[in-house]
Amino acid sequence: MRPVILWFRRDLRLADNPALSAALRSNAPVLPVYVLDETRELRALGGASSWWLEKSLRSLSDALEARGSRLILRRGPAATILSDLVAQTQAQGLYFNGIFDPGVQARDQDLATRLVECGVEVHRFNGAHLINPDSARTKTDGLFSVFTPFWRTARGQVSAGLHSPAPDRLSPPADWPASENLVHWALHPNRPDWSKGFTDWVPGETDARRRLTDFVDQSLATYSQDRDRPAVSGTSRLSPHLHFGEISPKACWRAAQAAGVRHAAPETQVEKFLAELGWREFNAAIAGRGGDLATDNFNGQFDAFPWRDDPEGFSAWTKGRTGYPLVDAGMRQLWTTGWMHNRVRMVVASFLTKHLLIDWRQGEAWFWDTLVDADHASNAGNWQWVAGSGADAAPYFRIFSPMAQGAKFDPDGLYVRKWVPELRQMRSKLIHAPWLASAGVLAGATLQLGVNYPYPIIDHDVARARALAAYASLKGSRQPTP
Ligand code: FAD
Repeated sequence: MRPVILWFRRDLRLADNPALSAALRSNAPVLPVYVLDETRELRALGGASSWWLEKSLRSLSDALEARGSRLILRRGPAATILSDLVAQTQAQGLYFNGIFDPGVQARDQDLATRLVECGVEVHRFNGAHLINPDSARTKTDGLFSVFTPFWRTARGQVSAGLHSPAPDRLSPPADWPASENLVHWALHPNRPDWSKGFTDWVPGETDARRRLTDFVDQSLATYSQDRDRPAVSGTSRLSPHLHFGEISPKACWRAAQAAGVRHAAPETQVEKFLAELGWREFNAAIAGRGGDLATDNFNGQFDAFPWRDDPEGFSAWTKGRTGYPLVDAGMRQLWTTGWMHNRVRMVVASFLTKHLLIDWRQGEAWFWDTLVDADHASNAGNWQWVAGSGADAAPYFRIFSPMAQGAKFDPDGLYVRKWVPELRQMRSKLIHAPWLASAGVLAGATLQLGVNYPYPIIDHDVARARALAAYASLKGSRQPTP
């Protein structure tokens, strides 16, 4: 019997995978394929994402082999590779879950048209989102630019469905086409291997499920309070698993709702978590509007923004050597583990764009390379949100004080102590502003500012005034409220 091709993309899982379920329903032998297409995605994978992808593919391949199947790996333009595989195996159909990045969608459509012309049935599904990102519409059939009304509408459209378990077995094709060797893709870094601190992560579907269960059992009940405290394990850390599709957002939705129903978590906490999943949907909807969210200001007024060229400031920021403890802790957590707490992401992004007036695109690109959860829509959307150029953006006069944010969300300095060991012995009261400490206190904490930890690279008040002036220079921008 002629096989069907199951094209894995950012849906590296066997459970809750609509394309896989439909391929199985065809009753044809299934040929699972992953194509590393560096020409197809909007941009090349970053280093940390490449690290993740390798392990995730290995895990998927093992899971398929345990079910009598295989994962065929090919590298090159997806359109050519899939057409060749169709010709070679006489495949009757192609099943895949869509990727909603606008450039990719257009290319998927071309590919589908080409294959349909060759007599192949093409079946596309949504396995990555709670709703189709463009289905939430205003009363006048427009797209939302503000989160709250978007979510009010989108939330009502979510149909989380039922769990669809991983199949016990996938019927193999009579002949297997050749596969490339994952090792030859060199996705794992070497010379140097900077991933040694990525110990907290186990890419793949099994760990994604474990993380979801642990989060729902241990942290969902206190999510709203704890999610802003970077020293506390109060969030799910599902973001890389969600990005690579090792778990479906609908599975997260169902698990959180079920906890609410059995009173394991209060409704308000469940809703808060669902709304965070909603931000993922919102960013996808914004990114799907055309243009490239990682290069184009959503608010065109920002095209005239006077960004500064500051290679030294940028370098200090990337290395976690700005002299602002919370900023430095976040940037070091990112470099060491490939992930940063959401509250701290906001603080470091605000510092780069407002204190240093460095273009948000530079920060976005650094995150793209270093985050294991780097996601085109969520990364660019959040960077633009912080910078002020994005949809429903933070007002430009909201300039986070790293000291106030530290005192509020890391009051005992536990997060800073963990990531900035130079400050480990500093008193909690001064840990977010060590330059205010007396010589005696500094000596007691074995801290020599300017020697083993930098002075702030810019004074907070000076930076704030400069940022307000720069933002006010934008035509038509509102003046700060007193
Ligand atoms: P939880 O609090 O457990 O939230 C559950 C899920 O909801 C997350 O896994 C994520 O998929 C989604 N989510 C939560 N907050 C947001 C948000 N603000 N925007 C979009 N989705 C959200 N998230 C990414 O997945 N990829 C990125 O590249 C990314 N870049 C960011 C850049 C900046 C400057 C900022 C401020 C935020 C960025 N975020 C990004 C959003 C957010 O920081 C992460 O999703 C979150 O920290 C992941 O941790 P978690 O899984 O424990 O989140």
